[in-house]
Amino acid sequence: MSTTTIRQIVRTDEDLCTGCGLCVSPCAEGAIVMVDGKAKVIREELCDGAGFCLGVCPTGALTLEYREAVPFDHDAAEAIVAEKQQNYIPQVCFRCGADEDHVPLLPVRQEGRSEWVCTRCLPTLIHG
Ligand code: SF4
Repeated sequence: MSTTTIRQIVRTDEDLCTGCGLCVSPCAEGAIVMVDGKAKVIREELCDGAGFCLGVCPTGALTLEYREAVPFDHDAAEAIVAEKQQNYIPQVCFRCGADEDHVPLLPVRQEGRSEWVCTRCLPTLIHG
C-alpha cells in the first residue's frame, strides 16, 4: 500500500471541462488523460503539481489544490517522458513559427484561444 502525503496536485472541475483535450499534451509526465470526455489525473504519482496544464485550459477547469495523494514518482514519470519523446512534435510560436527546439515557448490565452508564444515575440505581444 502506498504512503500518502499532503501535496499540491491538479484538480479538474468536471462541470467546466468540455473535453477539448488541450491539457493532455502539455503534461510531459502523462498524468492527464481523457476519460469519458473529461480530463482526469488517474495516476496521482505522475502529477508533479507544476500546473503547466492550467495555462492551456480554455475554460478554467483545471486548478491546483493541496490534498492527500501518493507522492510524485520521478522514476515512473521519467519513463513516461522517455516514451513520449518517441512521438515528440515540437510546438511552434503562433506569431513567428519558431519551434521549441530553438526558443522557449510559453502558453498564452488570446481571444478565447490557447496558443504558444516564443520568448522573442512575447515582448511585442505585451507592449505592442
Ligand atoms: S483543457 Fe480544460 S476543458 Fe479541455 S480537456 Fe483539459 S480540463 Fe477539459
